[in-house]
Formats: sequence, structure tokens, C-alpha cells
Amino acid sequence: MKKITIAIDGFSSTGKSTVAKQLAKYLGYIYVDTGAMYRAVTLYAMQHGFIDANHFETSKLVNALEDITISFKFNDTLGFAEVYLNGVNIEKEIRTLEVSSFVSQVAAVSKVRTQLVKQQQQMGKDKGVVMDGRDIGTVVFPDAELKLYMIASAEKRAKRRFDELIERGDEVSYADVLKNVEERDYIDSNREDSPLRKAEDAIELDNSNLDLKTQFERVVSLVNDKFKQ
Ligand code: C5P
Repeated sequence: MKKITIAIDGFSSTGKSTVAKQLAKYLGYIYVDTGAMYRAVTLYAMQHGFIDANHFETSKLVNALEDITISFKFNDTLGFAEVYLNGVNIEKEIRTLEVSSFVSQVAAVSKVRTQLVKQQQQMGKDKGVVMDGRDIGTVVFPDAELKLYMIASAEKRAKRRFDELIERGDEVSYADVLKNVEERDYIDSNREDSPLRKAEDAIELDNSNLDLKTQFERVVSLVNDKFKQ
């Protein structure tokens, strides 16, 4: 069967990665979590003292970009690929609220985006990929055969992220998680370079009140329609 490219965009915690992982498994496609790549660069910036609550030395990060290697390795037990920064598995470290609080500033830097977008295009060059992020259908793969744009209320999204963080054992408050979700929504949709936008040909999916099974069935039927075309 011919392979296609599936682009999934939307605000944070709209359930993009859940659908993307399910779809990749169902189709035997590669799943690429581009948010993890921006989080990896953010973690590097934090580890090297380029960013904290009071400052962000953009030029130091830009100069260090060639020292940053991001890779993915499939974990058979988890059933998806984990992200590595310079050979070290950082899957856990990048999901903290602290990384979330800096990532949108890092992702607004054009030179960071250029480098990561190039890598993402390389990863998807042979199609057979499900990629999620903020600019996949608009910038990374504007010709993707299927584009989904996922939405859900900020409160629903914050609740989901809060539950995930608590389950990991992180001490966070719902109010802080909601604040972070709203701040990232704002920065991600108002930055100059590749702001979050729904691509004209994207199909909107509001999953505020959809259970996972129903949502997946809808998405699979959209994929099957594409294969028939
Ligand atoms: O998807 P996730 O919430 O992990 O993404 C973290 C952040 O990375 C987003 O809030 C956004 O600032 C940035 N991002 C981006 N472009 C992408 C994917 C993520 O700017 N394609």
C-alpha cells in the first residue's frame, strides 16, 4: 500500500501524541514527537546555564546548536521511540513543568527552528510517518496527505497534563499547570517564526468530550478515506 505523511498539529496537551502513537502503531509508520526535540534543546540550554527564570542567552544557545545531537530510539517495552540528547536518554527529564516553562521561548528562536525542521523533514522524507507538533502541516510538511488539527479547552488540557505529572510523582499544582498551558498557547501562536496555525486543508478534531476509542475510530476512518483517494 502507498505510504502517506500524517501531520498532527494543535495546542499543548490536546492529545496529539496519543493519537499519533496509536496511528503509527496501526499503520506500521514511524512516529516523531517534534515537541520532544524542542524540549531536548531546552534541556540542553538549562544544563548549560543559557536559560533560567531571569534570563535567556539566545546567542549562546544558537552558537552551541552544532553541539546538540537529538536522536530517537524505539523502546519495545513502551512501544514508541524515546528521545536522546547527545546519546543520553532524556525522555523523563524533558516532561517536567520546568522544561515546559522555558520551551516556548526556545522554540521561538528561528535558528533553533531551522535546524530542527531540517532534521524533521529528513526523518519524514520517505513518508510512512506520523509527526506531531505546531507547524507540521504548515511548515515541515505542507504537502502532507492528511493533516489533523486538534483542539480542546484549556481547562481540559491542563487537567490532562496535571494528571500526567502527578502520576509521575511530580509536585505541581493544577493552577501552575493551567498557567503554563495558557502561556505556551500565547507564545506558540504569537511568535514571528512559524506560529501555530491551522493549515487551510487540516481537519479539525475537538476532543474535549471524545473518549479515546471514538476519537481513534474517527481518525482511522479519515486515514482510510485518504487511501481510497
Ligand atoms: O508538544 P509539546 O507540548 O511537547 O511541545 C513543547 C513546545 O515545543 C511547544 O509548546 C512549542 O513551544 C514547541 N514546539 C514547536 N513546534 C513544534 C513542536 C513543539 O514550536 N513542531
